[in-house]
Amino acid sequence: MKLIFATGNKGKLREAREILGEGYELISSAEAGITEDIPETGSSFRENSLQKAKYIWDRCHTACLSDDSGLEVDALGGAPGIYSARYASMDGNEGSASHDFDRNIDKLLHELNALELKALIEGRPAPERTARFRCTVTLMTDGEPRFFDGKIEGKIAYERSGCGGFGYDPVFIPDACPDRTLAEVAEDLKNSMSHRGEALRKMAAWLEAHPEGQ
Ligand code: IMP
Repeated sequence: MKLIFATGNKGKLREAREILGEGYELISSAEAGITEDIPETGSSFRENSLQKAKYIWDRCHTACLSDDSGLEVDALGGAPGIYSARYASMDGNEGSASHDFDRNIDKLLHELNALELKALIEGRPAPERTARFRCTVTLMTDGEPRFFDGKIEGKIAYERSGCGGFGYDPVFIPDACPDRTLAEVAEDLKNSMSHRGEALRKMAAWLEAHPEGQ
């Protein structure tokens, strides 16, 4: 089945191709001729995911999907959340483009260190470093959006480790593999437990159960 994937993120595209495997031909929005940035102005993963899929559908009327995802850190009240891609560029940091993974990680570690130091000074226990990635996939095959969610629980490391994956993977330690970051596990292992893997496998199961949607 041919699907346009509303993303310019090479990491997402590579993982989605691996997760869905043979039987699916995923083409990026750029390969489908859509080279502009697709707007993301919603206030939840679902709203942003719908906005991206609808943008492609309205232009191409071809089966398409989108993935809106991000990292929620409990001690930061759920930040960076839907702003994960542009976390470092949100406080007037002009030099930091959206998807500047390195600066986003620097900011995250800095914020958590600052909270930990404050707790130490005030004689309180250090804040938990619990976090999760969430993903909402939107599938549009007939103009109707269908949503599929996934998540993976873990903790934020004190420093980067590993060079696989993308984004915050070097500082995310999944609960299922507590001795490694997601950037240190093989890609197929990441995909078997990730938020994206869960959401895309739900989507594939829906398509199998609804062949008319293909
Ligand atoms: P968006 O869905 O385009 O808004 O961007 C999602 C952002 O969340 C990415 O740019 C990454 O910073 C982060 N993110 C989403 N999924 C992952 C993942 O699997 N690993 C690491 N970071 C991720």
